[in-house]
Amino acid sequence: MTAQCIDGLALAQKIRNQIKQRVAALTAQGHQPGLAVVLVGADEASSTYVRSKERACQESGMHSVCLRHPATLSEADLLAHIATLNRDPAIHGILVQLPLPAHIDARRVIAAIDPKKDVDGFHALHAGALMLGLPGFRPCTPYGVIKMLQAYSIPIAGAHAVVIGRSNIVGKPMALLLLEANATVTLCHSRTHQLAEHTRRADIVIAAAGQARMLQGDMIKPGAAVIDVGIHRDTSGKLCGDVDFESVKDVAGYLSPVPGGVGPMTIAMLLENTLQAAEQQLGHTASF
Ligand code: NAD
Repeated sequence: MTAQCIDGLALAQKIRNQIKQRVAALTAQGHQPGLAVVLVGADEASSTYVRSKERACQESGMHSVCLRHPATLSEADLLAHIATLNRDPAIHGILVQLPLPAHIDARRVIAAIDPKKDVDGFHALHAGALMLGLPGFRPCTPYGVIKMLQAYSIPIAGAHAVVIGRSNIVGKPMALLLLEANATVTLCHSRTHQLAEHTRRADIVIAAAGQARMLQGDMIKPGAAVIDVGIHRDTSGKLCGDVDFESVKDVAGYLSPVPGGVGPMTIAMLLENTLQAAEQQLGHTASF
């Protein structure tokens, strides 16, 4: 293996230790930060993510509420639950686990979250702020990727970054965050022709296509930094990402593993956003 492993687990732990201290300081003043996670339905992957978020929240010393609803919950009832959480002074951050059942319009649900509590950063107000280069909550996964690149001193300014995937929660905000950090950004997606011709020119590749092991070693420029956002379970039940680790590890300069890469950083950034939301709502720091 020539690539240096980007240890998201260790970096996330370091960030979480710092967050724990800030949470303890706020709690000592009588203001415990609180996060509510809302899960609708019993999707196995979503349930696992929600449990990890709940555990991380408790471990940081935050107040944690997890609302689990059956898949039959109506959109109106979900909106009513969100309205209650919006008014709850003990809750500073609200996260609705996606995807939602087909009968619920996720856009309407995201729009209903008070932007001050939208620690996922999916509300149009935060998406717009990111687009305009204004402060706001940054979506946790791409925010975590930027922290990983920075922690390993991987130059972003002037680098050619290729993002594979254009979802609203990963690909698009990822491209904008890289642009904000002065990279030259190419955003690829399922309709991109000759994907490998783009990725082979990249100094940084962010794989967020949701296709198991689709990024192969011959698609990478030697020495490039490769960040794997994908999460899949292969036929043998093993966790893997969008990157074919075996072939990419001997070509890339840096590579984030799955598990132990972007996943733990996403959770650390969720805690960071929740703490920031609490500090703002308590008037300790200026609101966006
Ligand atoms: P999505 O399905 O919403 O979007 C996938 C994107 O990839 C689409 O824009 C599509 O155009 C593009 N795409 C699909 N196939 C492609 C191909 N062959 N070539 C180029 N582009 C292609 O998925 P998402 O929500 O953005 O998530 C992407 C992956 O990241 C999934 O595996 C998901 O599980 C994972 N994920 C991980 C974390 C984490 O914390 N590690 C967080 C969110 C998502």
